[in-house]
Amino acid sequence: MPRPIRATIDLSALTHNLDQIRQQTPEAKIWSVVKANAYGHGLSRIWRALAKTDGFALLDIEEAILLREQGWQGPILLLEGFFQPQDLQLIDRYRLTTTIHNESQLQMLGRARLSAPVDIYLKVNTGMHRLGFMPEQLMAIYHSARALPNVDHITLMTHFANADNHLGVESPLAAFNAATVDISAPRCLANSAATLWHQPTHADWVRPGIVLYGASPTGRWHDIAESHLRPVMSLHSEIIAIQNIQSGDSVGYGSRYQAVQPQRIGIVACGYADGYPRHAPSGTPVWVSGQRTQLLGTVSMDMLAIDLTALPEVQVGESVELWGQNLPVDDVAQSAGTIGYELLCAVAPRVPVTVL
Ligand SMILES: *Cc1c(COP(=O)(O)O)cnc(C)c1O
Repeated sequence: MPRPIRATIDLSALTHNLDQIRQQTPEAKIWSVVKANAYGHGLSRIWRALAKTDGFALLDIEEAILLREQGWQGPILLLEGFFQPQDLQLIDRYRLTTTIHNESQLQMLGRARLSAPVDIYLKVNTGMHRLGFMPEQLMAIYHSARALPNVDHITLMTHFANADNHLGVESPLAAFNAATVDISAPRCLANSAATLWHQPTHADWVRPGIVLYGASPTGRWHDIAESHLRPVMSLHSEIIAIQNIQSGDSVGYGSRYQAVQPQRIGIVACGYADGYPRHAPSGTPVWVSGQRTQLLGTVSMDMLAIDLTALPEVQVGESVELWGQNLPVDDVAQSAGTIGYELLCAVAPRVPVTVL
């Protein structure tokens, strides 16, 4: 038997979440963002559950080729564009849409020998200062791109740094609108947070990622609790040992948790080599036997300890949910000082996956 740890992927939740997003933004087309192996869910196992999307957006050309080889014939957008001139041969061969965010990409595109012109997304830097052309450059860049025989349709895009927090989108949206006012082209701006909370950004295409997987763009579950989204991934393991400790006894490496009263401890077959965050502190929520209990002490490579003092009926072999249907990944992430995105992406290849 393998270790009892298992990730379960609920494809009906994925389809449901896409439907919910569709209802939020009926006028816009949807790029389902499936970068990073579909946020750790496994691109090849999940994409068909999103087949009603208008396109898939990702970063890695290998993932784009995988989608094509598995039969997806619709649009695929490369969110970082390409890196080398030879990438353009693959973009041509697999009919990919590419972001263009700097002049070197534009030059490579101008020089490439392609079988047909490609669709491009011209990216505007509206304050994130990561990728994209400055607003004042955009007009000139647009005209150079328009003049290239290798360019077919052009869409204008930007990405928000603060759609998920109080700073919002007002100032980048104004910068984008001002920079693009004289250009007649489709527009694509919204990530998950903007799709949920900033209707004026919806434009022609939206680009939701994390909400498709049923986690929160803010890292706080309660921000999406009313959005009718369902968690797609559940991570389960089992209790493999029980320890009864006394006041003063400690648990785990470094003795970082010390009991101040007699306690019943459950050892769970899940550790940081499975993708559980090692820096999660004592008190991080864990779901067992229909209720929340908590992590105690340092997370090991293959195990972690939880408090079973209030759960005397729980025995070796009892199922434990590390996150999922009953325990939002956001709650675990928040306790560990990160966001659900990171935990989902970090689930290790050694964790077996069941698809529902
Ligand atoms: C990752 C990404 C998205 C999706 O972000 P979420 O917060 O997961 O919705 C959208 N656009 C770009 C450019 C991205 O890199």
